[in-house]
Amino acid sequence: MRIAIVGLGLIGGSLGLDLRRLGHGVVGVSRNPMTCDRAVALGAADEAGCELARVEGAAVVFLCPPLDWVISMGEAVLPHLSPGAILTDVGSVKQPIVQALSSQWPQFIGGHPMAGTAHQGIEAAESRLFQGRPYVLTPTTSTPAASLEVLAGLVQSLGSTLYYCPPDQHDQAVAWISHLPVLVSASLIQACQGESQGEILRLAQQLASSGFRDTSRVGGGNPELGTLMARYNREALLTSLRQYQGAIAGLTQLVEAENWAELQQQLQATQVQRSAFVDP
Ligand code: NAP
Repeated sequence: MRIAIVGLGLIGGSLGLDLRRLGHGVVGVSRNPMTCDRAVALGAADEAGCELARVEGAAVVFLCPPLDWVISMGEAVLPHLSPGAILTDVGSVKQPIVQALSSQWPQFIGGHPMAGTAHQGIEAAESRLFQGRPYVLTPTTSTPAASLEVLAGLVQSLGSTLYYCPPDQHDQAVAWISHLPVLVSASLIQACQGESQGEILRLAQQLASSGFRDTSRVGGGNPELGTLMARYNREALLTSLRQYQGAIAGLTQLVEAENWAELQQQLQATQVQRSAFVDP
Protein backbone atom coordinates (compact mmCIF):
# COMPACT_ATOMS: atom_id res chain seq x y z
CA MET A 1 0.00 0.00 0.00
CA ARG A 2 1.21 3.54 -0.67
CA ILE A 3 1.10 5.50 2.59
CA ALA A 4 1.89 9.17 3.22
CA ILE A 5 3.05 10.63 6.53
CA VAL A 6 2.81 14.39 7.06
CA GLY A 7 4.99 15.63 9.95
CA LEU A 8 8.14 13.56 10.36
CA GLY A 9 8.89 13.58 14.09
CA LEU A 10 8.83 11.00 16.87
CA ILE A 11 5.40 9.60 15.98
CA GLY A 12 5.47 10.17 12.19
CA GLY A 13 9.02 8.81 11.89
CA SER A 14 8.23 5.79 14.07
CA LEU A 15 5.16 5.01 11.97
CA GLY A 16 7.30 5.29 8.84
CA LEU A 17 9.90 2.84 10.16
CA ASP A 18 7.25 0.23 10.99
CA LEU A 19 5.13 0.68 7.86
CA ARG A 20 8.20 0.29 5.62
CA ARG A 21 9.29 -2.80 7.59
CA LEU A 22 5.80 -4.20 6.91
CA GLY A 23 6.36 -3.75 3.16
CA HIS A 24 4.41 -0.55 2.48
CA GLY A 25 5.72 2.28 0.33
CA VAL A 26 6.07 5.37 2.53
CA VAL A 27 6.22 8.94 1.27
CA GLY A 28 7.06 11.56 3.88
CA VAL A 29 6.18 15.26 4.00
CA SER A 30 7.57 17.67 6.57
CA ARG A 31 8.23 21.37 6.99
CA ASN A 32 12.01 21.26 7.12
CA PRO A 33 13.97 19.82 4.13
CA MET A 34 16.68 18.52 6.47
CA THR A 35 14.08 16.54 8.41
CA CYS A 36 12.91 14.99 5.14
CA ASP A 37 16.48 13.97 4.22
CA ARG A 38 17.05 12.47 7.67
CA ALA A 39 13.75 10.53 7.47
CA VAL A 40 14.92 8.88 4.24
CA ALA A 41 18.43 8.26 5.62
CA LEU A 42 17.01 6.67 8.81
CA GLY A 43 14.65 4.43 6.80
CA ALA A 44 11.44 6.15 7.94
CA ALA A 45 10.39 7.01 4.36
CA ASP A 46 11.21 5.82 0.84
CA GLU A 47 11.06 9.42 -0.36
CA ALA A 48 10.30 12.70 1.39
CA GLY A 49 9.98 16.40 0.71
CA CYS A 50 8.21 19.58 1.78
CA GLU A 51 5.51 19.60 -0.94
CA LEU A 52 2.04 18.51 0.18
CA ALA A 53 1.34 17.31 -3.40
CA ARG A 54 3.50 14.28 -2.52
CA VAL A 55 0.46 12.73 -0.78
CA GLU A 56 -1.22 12.27 -4.19
CA GLY A 57 -1.81 8.59 -4.91
CA ALA A 58 -1.55 7.53 -1.26
CA ALA A 59 -4.26 5.14 -0.04
CA VAL A 60 -3.77 6.28 3.56
CA VAL A 61 -2.43 9.63 4.82
CA PHE A 62 -1.31 10.00 8.47
CA LEU A 63 -1.25 13.57 9.85
CA CYS A 64 1.52 13.68 12.49
CA PRO A 65 2.45 17.35 13.06
CA PRO A 66 2.24 18.99 16.52
CA LEU A 67 -1.32 19.10 17.92
CA ASP A 68 -1.94 22.76 17.01
CA TRP A 69 -1.08 22.08 13.36
CA VAL A 70 -3.23 18.99 12.74
CA ILE A 71 -6.41 20.75 11.55
CA SER A 72 -4.72 23.33 9.30
CA MET A 73 -2.37 20.68 7.92
CA GLY A 74 -5.34 18.37 7.27
CA GLU A 75 -7.20 21.14 5.43
CA ALA A 76 -4.12 21.94 3.35
CA VAL A 77 -3.76 18.27 2.39
CA LEU A 78 -7.40 17.84 1.25
CA PRO A 79 -6.96 19.18 -2.34
CA HIS A 80 -4.15 16.69 -2.91
CA LEU A 81 -5.95 13.55 -1.70
CA SER A 82 -6.88 10.84 -4.17
CA PRO A 83 -10.62 10.03 -4.24
CA GLY A 84 -11.45 7.58 -1.43
CA ALA A 85 -8.10 8.06 0.34
CA ILE A 86 -8.23 7.47 4.08
CA LEU A 87 -7.09 10.49 6.11
CA THR A 88 -6.18 9.96 9.75
CA ASP A 89 -4.24 11.78 12.48
CA VAL A 90 -2.34 10.85 15.65
CA GLY A 91 -3.19 13.88 17.81
CA SER A 92 -3.56 13.42 21.57
CA VAL A 93 -6.98 15.18 21.62
CA LYS A 94 -9.76 14.04 19.29
CA GLN A 95 -12.99 16.05 19.44
CA PRO A 96 -11.91 19.36 17.79
CA ILE A 97 -9.92 17.52 15.12
CA VAL A 98 -12.66 15.02 14.23
CA GLN A 99 -15.25 17.81 14.19
CA ALA A 100 -13.17 19.95 11.82
CA LEU A 101 -11.94 17.27 9.41
CA SER A 102 -14.63 14.56 9.18
CA SER A 103 -17.16 17.10 7.86
CA GLN A 104 -14.76 18.00 5.04
CA TRP A 105 -13.51 14.50 4.20
CA PRO A 106 -15.88 11.54 4.88
CA GLN A 107 -12.94 9.12 4.99
CA PHE A 108 -11.27 11.04 7.84
CA ILE A 109 -10.85 8.85 10.94
CA GLY A 110 -9.38 10.26 14.16
CA GLY A 111 -6.64 8.19 15.77
CA HIS A 112 -4.38 8.28 18.82
CA PRO A 113 -1.52 5.86 19.42
CA MET A 114 -0.92 5.74 23.18
CA ALA A 115 2.85 5.49 22.81
CA GLY A 116 5.70 7.92 23.13
CA THR A 117 9.04 8.73 24.71
CA ALA A 118 10.45 11.82 26.40
CA HIS A 119 12.12 12.82 23.10
CA GLN A 120 10.94 14.64 19.99
CA GLY A 121 11.86 15.01 16.32
CA ILE A 122 12.88 12.60 13.58
CA GLU A 123 16.05 11.52 15.42
CA ALA A 124 13.82 10.17 18.23
CA ALA A 125 11.89 7.85 15.85
CA GLU A 126 11.87 4.25 17.06
CA SER A 127 10.98 0.99 15.41
CA ARG A 128 8.16 -0.98 17.12
CA LEU A 129 7.18 2.02 19.27
CA PHE A 130 3.51 1.05 19.00
CA GLN A 131 3.90 -2.65 19.70
CA GLY A 132 1.79 -3.79 22.65
CA ARG A 133 0.45 -0.25 23.15
CA PRO A 134 -3.20 0.89 22.89
CA TYR A 135 -4.17 2.67 19.64
CA VAL A 136 -7.56 4.43 19.71
CA LEU A 137 -9.68 5.08 16.63
CA THR A 138 -12.64 7.46 16.92
CA PRO A 139 -14.94 6.83 13.93
CA THR A 140 -18.24 8.71 13.61
CA THR A 141 -21.62 7.31 12.55
CA SER A 142 -20.86 8.39 8.97
CA THR A 143 -17.38 6.82 8.72
CA PRO A 144 -17.39 4.33 5.80
CA ALA A 145 -17.03 0.79 7.18
CA ALA A 146 -14.58 -0.21 4.44
CA SER A 147 -12.21 2.70 5.28
CA LEU A 148 -12.36 1.84 8.97
CA GLU A 149 -11.53 -1.77 8.20
CA VAL A 150 -8.41 -0.80 6.22
CA LEU A 151 -7.13 1.56 8.94
CA ALA A 152 -7.90 -0.93 11.72
CA GLY A 153 -5.91 -3.57 9.83
CA LEU A 154 -2.91 -1.21 9.56
CA VAL A 155 -3.07 -0.35 13.27
CA GLN A 156 -3.20 -4.03 14.23
CA SER A 157 -0.27 -4.81 11.94
CA LEU A 158 1.80 -2.39 14.08
CA GLY A 159 1.21 -4.76 17.01
CA SER A 160 -1.03 -2.23 18.78
CA THR A 161 -4.14 -3.09 20.76
CA LEU A 162 -7.01 -1.44 18.95
CA TYR A 163 -9.78 0.45 20.76
CA TYR A 164 -12.79 2.27 19.32
CA CYS A 165 -14.66 5.07 21.09
CA PRO A 166 -16.43 8.36 20.32
CA PRO A 167 -14.09 11.40 20.28
CA ASP A 168 -15.63 13.01 23.40
CA GLN A 169 -15.21 9.82 25.43
CA HIS A 170 -11.58 9.59 24.30
CA ASP A 171 -10.94 13.17 25.41
CA GLN A 172 -12.48 12.69 28.86
CA ALA A 173 -10.60 9.42 29.37
CA VAL A 174 -7.22 10.96 28.47
CA ALA A 175 -8.04 13.97 30.64
CA TRP A 176 -8.18 11.55 33.61
CA ILE A 177 -5.13 9.46 32.89
CA SER A 178 -2.83 11.86 31.04
CA HIS A 179 -3.77 15.55 31.17
CA LEU A 180 -4.96 15.83 34.82
CA PRO A 181 -1.85 13.99 36.11
CA VAL A 182 0.39 16.56 34.37
CA LEU A 183 -1.29 19.46 36.20
CA VAL A 184 -1.54 17.60 39.52
CA SER A 185 2.16 16.77 39.31
CA ALA A 186 3.01 20.37 38.33
CA SER A 187 0.98 21.66 41.29
CA LEU A 188 2.91 19.35 43.62
CA ILE A 189 6.18 20.86 42.41
CA GLN A 190 4.75 24.39 42.75
CA ALA A 191 3.48 23.74 46.28
CA CYS A 192 6.78 22.26 47.40
CA GLN A 193 8.75 25.16 45.88
CA GLY A 194 6.41 27.49 47.80
CA GLU A 195 8.05 26.45 51.11
CA SER A 196 9.13 29.82 52.50
CA GLN A 197 12.09 28.61 54.60
CA GLY A 198 15.06 27.97 52.33
CA GLU A 199 16.68 25.69 54.88
CA ILE A 200 13.66 23.35 54.94
CA LEU A 201 13.39 23.34 51.15
CA ARG A 202 17.08 22.36 50.85
CA LEU A 203 16.62 19.61 53.43
CA ALA A 204 13.52 18.34 51.58
CA GLN A 205 15.56 18.21 48.37
CA GLN A 206 18.32 16.21 50.09
CA LEU A 207 15.78 13.77 51.56
CA ALA A 208 13.61 13.39 48.43
CA SER A 209 13.53 9.83 47.16
CA SER A 210 11.59 7.69 44.69
CA GLY A 211 8.17 8.83 45.96
CA PHE A 212 8.76 12.47 45.04
CA ARG A 213 10.61 11.49 41.87
CA ASP A 214 7.62 9.37 40.71
CA THR A 215 4.88 11.85 41.60
CA SER A 216 6.69 14.89 40.14
CA ARG A 217 7.85 13.23 36.89
CA VAL A 218 5.06 14.22 34.49
CA GLY A 219 4.87 17.74 35.94
CA GLY A 220 8.50 18.22 34.95
CA GLY A 221 7.85 17.30 31.29
CA ASN A 222 7.64 19.37 28.09
CA PRO A 223 5.79 22.66 28.89
CA GLU A 224 4.64 23.21 25.29
CA LEU A 225 3.00 19.78 25.10
CA GLY A 226 1.30 20.24 28.49
CA THR A 227 -0.11 23.62 27.43
CA LEU A 228 -1.32 22.27 24.06
CA MET A 229 -3.15 19.40 25.78
CA ALA A 230 -4.86 21.82 28.19
CA ARG A 231 -5.76 24.21 25.37
CA TYR A 232 -7.26 21.60 23.08
CA ASN A 233 -8.89 19.47 25.80
CA ARG A 234 -10.03 22.37 28.01
CA GLU A 235 -13.59 21.25 28.82
CA ALA A 236 -12.73 17.65 29.70
CA LEU A 237 -9.68 18.78 31.68
CA LEU A 238 -11.77 21.29 33.66
CA THR A 239 -14.27 18.53 34.54
CA SER A 240 -11.40 16.42 35.89
CA LEU A 241 -9.70 19.34 37.66
CA ARG A 242 -12.93 20.31 39.47
CA GLN A 243 -13.50 16.76 40.64
CA TYR A 244 -9.88 16.61 41.79
CA GLN A 245 -10.28 19.85 43.77
CA GLY A 246 -13.22 18.18 45.55
CA ALA A 247 -11.10 15.13 46.36
CA ILE A 248 -8.26 17.26 47.79
CA ALA A 249 -10.74 19.33 49.81
CA GLY A 250 -12.27 16.15 51.23
CA LEU A 251 -8.89 14.74 52.28
CA THR A 252 -7.87 18.11 53.79
CA GLN A 253 -11.05 18.13 55.88
CA LEU A 254 -10.33 14.65 57.25
CA VAL A 255 -6.85 15.73 58.38
CA GLU A 256 -8.19 18.97 59.88
CA ALA A 257 -10.83 17.02 61.81
CA GLU A 258 -8.24 14.40 62.86
CA ASN A 259 -10.62 11.79 61.45
CA TRP A 260 -7.92 9.14 61.16
CA ALA A 261 -10.35 6.22 60.93
CA GLU A 262 -12.07 7.67 57.87
CA LEU A 263 -8.75 8.67 56.31
CA GLN A 264 -7.44 5.12 56.72
CA GLN A 265 -10.64 3.74 55.20
CA GLN A 266 -10.28 6.03 52.19
CA LEU A 267 -6.60 5.10 51.75
CA GLN A 268 -7.56 1.42 51.98
CA ALA A 269 -10.08 2.02 49.20
CA THR A 270 -7.53 3.83 46.98
CA GLN A 271 -5.00 1.04 47.59
CA VAL A 272 -7.46 -1.55 46.24
CA GLN A 273 -8.70 0.77 43.44
CA ARG A 274 -5.18 1.55 42.22
CA SER A 275 -4.24 -2.12 41.80
CA ALA A 276 -7.52 -2.90 40.06
CA PHE A 277 -7.13 0.13 37.73
CA VAL A 278 -3.44 -0.09 36.89
CA ASP A 279 -2.98 -3.90 36.90
CA PRO A 280 -6.46 -5.33 36.22
P1 NAP B 1 7.50 15.86 17.15
O1 NAP B 1 8.48 14.80 17.45
O2 NAP B 1 7.81 17.27 17.51
O3 NAP B 1 7.20 15.76 15.59
C1 NAP B 1 6.37 16.65 14.89
C2 NAP B 1 7.06 16.89 13.57
O4 NAP B 1 6.21 17.63 12.76
C3 NAP B 1 8.35 17.67 13.72
O5 NAP B 1 9.47 16.80 13.62
C4 NAP B 1 8.32 18.70 12.62
O6 NAP B 1 9.30 18.41 11.66
C5 NAP B 1 6.99 18.52 11.96
N1 NAP B 1 6.26 19.77 11.88
C6 NAP B 1 6.23 20.75 12.78
N2 NAP B 1 5.41 21.73 12.36
C7 NAP B 1 4.97 21.32 11.17
C8 NAP B 1 4.11 21.88 10.22
N3 NAP B 1 3.56 23.06 10.43
N4 NAP B 1 3.87 21.20 9.09
C9 NAP B 1 4.43 19.99 8.86
N5 NAP B 1 5.26 19.40 9.73
C10 NAP B 1 5.50 20.07 10.86
O7 NAP B 1 6.09 15.54 17.81
P2 NAP B 1 5.45 14.10 18.10
O8 NAP B 1 5.73 13.75 19.51
O9 NAP B 1 5.81 13.17 17.01
O10 NAP B 1 3.91 14.48 18.03
C11 NAP B 1 3.24 14.55 16.81
C12 NAP B 1 1.77 14.30 17.05
O11 NAP B 1 1.63 13.06 17.73
C13 NAP B 1 1.10 15.36 17.91
O12 NAP B 1 -0.14 15.71 17.31
C14 NAP B 1 0.87 14.67 19.25
O13 NAP B 1 -0.33 15.09 19.87
C15 NAP B 1 0.78 13.21 18.84
N6 NAP B 1 1.22 12.25 19.85
C16 NAP B 1 2.39 12.43 20.52
C17 NAP B 1 2.79 11.47 21.45
C18 NAP B 1 4.07 11.62 22.22
O14 NAP B 1 4.23 11.02 23.29
N7 NAP B 1 5.03 12.38 21.75
C19 NAP B 1 2.02 10.34 21.68
C20 NAP B 1 0.84 10.16 20.94
C21 NAP B 1 0.45 11.14 20.02
P3 NAP B 1 10.10 19.58 10.89
O15 NAP B 1 11.49 19.37 11.38
O16 NAP B 1 9.87 19.27 9.47
O17 NAP B 1 9.53 20.91 11.33
